[in-house]
Amino acid sequence: MIRIGHGYDVHRLVEGRNLILGGVLVPYEFGLLGHSDADVLTHAVMDALLGAAALGDIGKHFPDTDPAYKGADSLKLLDHVMRLLEDKGWTVGNVDATIVAQKPKLAAYLPEMKTNLAQHMNVDPEQVNVKATTEEKLGFTGTGEGMAVHAVALLTSK
Ligand code: MG
Repeated sequence: MIRIGHGYDVHRLVEGRNLILGGVLVPYEFGLLGHSDADVLTHAVMDALLGAAALGDIGKHFPDTDPAYKGADSLKLLDHVMRLLEDKGWTVGNVDATIVAQKPKLAAYLPEMKTNLAQHMNVDPEQVNVKATTEEKLGFTGTGEGMAVHAVALLTSK
């Protein structure tokens, strides 16, 4: 059996926060605002995985009203999502994600994001793709107010 899932997430860019994408600390004058570490890439990937498994979304599993998730390492939350999938017999076929950000330049950091995500999903890095694009200075990503990530995931089970 195969199942497809989609994830989308947005976080606001602010001063005084770290910019963490796929578990990678990216040097930048702004960081993403959120209850957890605000790792918008990992959040979109988790939502794609949960979507494919018809298990809801991260808001349901990790409510931002719960102090347990304050400052949480999103890769640890991904580990939890993987346990939920494994309980249902799912393994990851592949994941593809697109980071939408005007700045900073992300190309140098994408391989490490890919490796981190693959490691936490227990798959080969060849099964994971992370790319980045700008929106040509249009909209909230274009002005640098925030970052968005789109992700799709394919799950397989025997
Ligand atoms: Mg989020």
